[in-house]
Amino acid sequence: MAVKQTAGRRDLGDFAPKFAQLNDDVLFGEVWSREDKLSLRDRSIVTVVALLSQGLTDSSFQYHLMTAKKNGITKTEIAEILTHAAFYAGWPKAWAAFRMAKEVWKEEVEGDARQQHENAMVFPIGAPNDGFAQYFIGQSYLAPLSASQVGIFNVTFEPGCRNNWHVHHGDQGGGQILVCVAGRGYYQEEGKAAQELHPGDVVNIPAGVKHWHGAAPDSWFSHLAVEVPGKNCSNEWLEPVTDEVYSLLK
Ligand code: MN
Repeated sequence: MAVKQTAGRRDLGDFAPKFAQLNDDVLFGEVWSREDKLSLRDRSIVTVVALLSQGLTDSSFQYHLMTAKKNGITKTEIAEILTHAAFYAGWPKAWAAFRMAKEVWKEEVEGDARQQHENAMVFPIGAPNDGFAQYFIGQSYLAPLSASQVGIFNVTFEPGCRNNWHVHHGDQGGGQILVCVAGRGYYQEEGKAAQELHPGDVVNIPAGVKHWHGAAPDSWFSHLAVEVPGKNCSNEWLEPVTDEVYSLLK
């Protein structure tokens, strides 16, 4: 997808139309847009370090810091990038860059963590899962992805959030498949040890099995919930996963 840039034409379109066109159409429209060759995130790192090394900590540097944040660079990562670059580019240049980076990444840590989680997956977090809130401890979110043939929902859990013990009932099929897409979470069947879940993990939950799923205490977590077709399908919601049980998890 082409990166859209209009700053060249906006600021220099009348004065230097060729420069404006090269800036907007070639540098951004062609080079920055080669996402299949190098990600926007990586291009942001290259650009920030290249500008820093020249001591160009001006408004264009601020623009590139904001772009780096939008492209998924976290507060922790920019601090590490600038610290690393300081040894090669020069200590005072890093100081100047840090003053600007502090402003760009000053939002609350919680907002950053949620944004970072959303950036880590291709599916949206969706809306607060109010319809099922009574069966969850903590805040969860729901994004319907498929509403026909087979129901598929992206379910996101904030750190510490988990659903109650429950059973997916059904005949000739039924049950649920979880496909983990981002963060770190847990799945537990009654009478068994909890199983840690990471992106790419798939859990097959047969109909009739009592279980719960949710986030790790210190991580956001998202899984797709696939409703396996069957006859007489229904969900039975049971008791919450107590702090005693949940606190045993790491
Ligand atoms: Mn379930």
